[in-house]
Amino acid sequence: MNILILAYHRVLPKPSSAAVSADVFERQIAYLAKTGYRTIGTEELALFFSGKLMPHDKYAMLTFDDGWGDNLIWATPILRRYSTKAVLALNTGLLNAKGRSIRSDLTYEIIDSKKALEDAVYGRGARPFLNWNEILEMHNSGAWEIQAHGNSHFGCYSSFDKIKGFYPEKPHWTMEFALGEPPFPGAPKVSFKSILSNKRTVMSEDLKDSLRKASSNTERIKLCQEHQSPVKVLESDEEFEKRIEEDMTACRRTILETLGTETSSLFWPWGQYSDTSIRIAKKCGFKMLFTMEKDAVTEKTSPDMIPRIAAPATLAGFKKQLAIYSSNIFRKIRNLF
Ligand SMILES: [Zn+2]
Repeated sequence: MNILILAYHRVLPKPSSAAVSADVFERQIAYLAKTGYRTIGTEELALFFSGKLMPHDKYAMLTFDDGWGDNLIWATPILRRYSTKAVLALNTGLLNAKGRSIRSDLTYEIIDSKKALEDAVYGRGARPFLNWNEILEMHNSGAWEIQAHGNSHFGCYSSFDKIKGFYPEKPHWTMEFALGEPPFPGAPKVSFKSILSNKRTVMSEDLKDSLRKASSNTERIKLCQEHQSPVKVLESDEEFEKRIEEDMTACRRTILETLGTETSSLFWPWGQYSDTSIRIAKKCGFKMLFTMEKDAVTEKTSPDMIPRIAAPATLAGFKKQLAIYSSNIFRKIRNLF
């Protein structure tokens, strides 16, 4: 028995980055209903891990990361129309704490996902994110259950092996945090590691200085690659463990105090985790930990590393992913590549 867990972020009237259009989302949900899928929540998934979930051919779980206001406005009516359940993985640091009124499709300001995340994480406004009234409304709607996605959603530099471009051509919303200061022209964009899975770092001061003085990107690539220690680690093992424990506890406690529900599940920001972060998450009381490793949940899956499939933005792509991951043969072939 395979369970397919789909990872969404946003549902908006028109397709855009990190979003599925409401029209496509409705067709995806209709397709699940028509083809006999049952959508489950984390309680049923926990039953699966203890061997007690009632056998059924087709189980799917819909998950939404971060806490976007559009989840309430455009996804909720569709979920209710098809009696479908979904899990909202809430990053408690991204919430629109000051926004009080319940928004509608007429007043919701659609802001590009990257810009919105940048504004929210640096405290410059979180308008596209849900406020607690709205989360409460979703929690009470019967369509949603609320789980954890951490309290901070920053990333920092871990290595400079693969440079993807330079600021300002290649900005990224967590770049300011990773650098430890606002990005300057010539600051490299590389992959960021979540600070819930890795120690907090910044770029070393002398590398920053030489990147600022460099006259070309070729020179900057060379500077990054030849530097002995481009990344300065800011935390000891103990400090790292203490910080991530506080972060996960804050997320869990806030949800408990506001909604009165215990969270069983943690959805890692960017799907990133480490041995230490898994150990601390379990210490904080999380029973199921969700990654972004693309696979189906099977009898062999560990609840410490639950895979998810990023929801495609088209119906054809969606059908294809369901076909691949509902079959163990196709899954294994796919995972060879
Ligand atoms: Zn996220």
